[in-house]
Amino acid sequence: MKKVLITGITGQDGSFLAQELVQRGYDVVGLVRRGSTPKTGRLDYLGILDKVRLVSMELTEFANVFSVIKAESPDLIYNLGAQSFVADSFDHPHLTSEINYTGVLNILEAVKVLGIECSIYQASTSEMYGDVLTDPQNEDTPFNPLSPYAVAKAAAHHIIRNYRFAYGMKTSNGILFNHESELRGREFVTRKITSKLASIKVQDGPPVRLGNLDSVRDWGYAKDYIKGMILINEASQASDYVIATNTIKTVREFFEFSAIAAGFSPVFEGEGMDEKCICKKTSKVLCEVDKKFFRPSDVTYLRGDYSKINQELGWKPETAFETMAERMVLTDIQLVESGNIYSF
Ligand code: NDP
Ligand code: GDP
Repeated sequence: MKKVLITGITGQDGSFLAQELVQRGYDVVGLVRRGSTPKTGRLDYLGILDKVRLVSMELTEFANVFSVIKAESPDLIYNLGAQSFVADSFDHPHLTSEINYTGVLNILEAVKVLGIECSIYQASTSEMYGDVLTDPQNEDTPFNPLSPYAVAKAAAHHIIRNYRFAYGMKTSNGILFNHESELRGREFVTRKITSKLASIKVQDGPPVRLGNLDSVRDWGYAKDYIKGMILINEASQASDYVIATNTIKTVREFFEFSAIAAGFSPVFEGEGMDEKCICKKTSKVLCEVDKKFFRPSDVTYLRGDYSKINQELGWKPETAFETMAERMVLTDIQLVESGNIYSF
């Protein structure tokens, strides 16, 4: 049985990846950092908390990373652990760099020094393209990052390639465009929208306050992207691959789809900071613009070209944008109705 280490197992991707690998019969070890309460809500929701082994590991502590990798001697590592929120990286640039870059280097050094034969997958990101230099973006598009998060991830991307070329290690980058699901963190715009729409629907909650409604993303469904990660880490050759849908929507469009799926009749009116979304049926204000949610510099357009992974590894997206938005909002409505017993 192959042994897999997953950093970030308590997050959206880590928990879906663990679910998929448990189903495929792998020995799954999840690396978790200590907190005042365990953040196992997603693993619990998916019903796999008792099917994985959790081990304490802090990515920024080299000795800790080294001793865990030595003790576990994995066949595969998925490094999904990160300070993953772009907006937060402007307030915590050092911490973001420590986790998102030095953490990767810690894993690479440990595996190199120990001489363990293992495939390493790194969670790279479309945020590295920043102020995009081609459209769509592919593996050859130069990076032009616009946040401390993206700068740290770009450094990590390069060090993963460097260890592949310099030491012949099997290290790959998955350059994933935004991917969402019912398990997405609530500070990201999609889940913020669906969870707050659910609270408007069920509890007559306040309007959703958002920043840049014109921002464009290539949003895919996280469970589809997990399958791409596994193909990348298990491919015979290490390489770098874009995972995306090559279709785009604005934040405003995501809001509209979700509001309709929740049973509202959304209409946007006004402009700039005065723009609002009203429900035609009830006259209820569903969304307002708030300058607090604008970023010092923002990535306003991303669209990924996934031809390389499609041609070489046979991956393609499966879930439509509308299906994803509907699934997210209906799950959030259920969670609010049931008292939201899961902590994610
Ligand atoms: P989440 O924010 O849901 O999960 C991040 C995980 O990292 C959590 O399990 C968190 O643990 C863990 N973590 C954070 N800091 C540390 C640390 N210092 N030591 C150990 N673990 C740590 O992210 P996603 O699942 O959405 O994303 C997975 C990866 O993919 C991330 O690296 C992200 O940057 C990247 N990515 C995500 C995209 C997306 O659209 N989702 C797009 C492109 C890349 P805890 O539960 O304790 O907070
Ligand atoms: P990101 O692409 O990893 O930064 O994912 P997010 O979901 O955090 O943000 C996607 C886009 O939505 C960015 O361009 C944000 O500026 C924009 N956005 C607009 N309003 C909000 C908001 O209230 N919260 C968040 N997180 N993003 C917002």
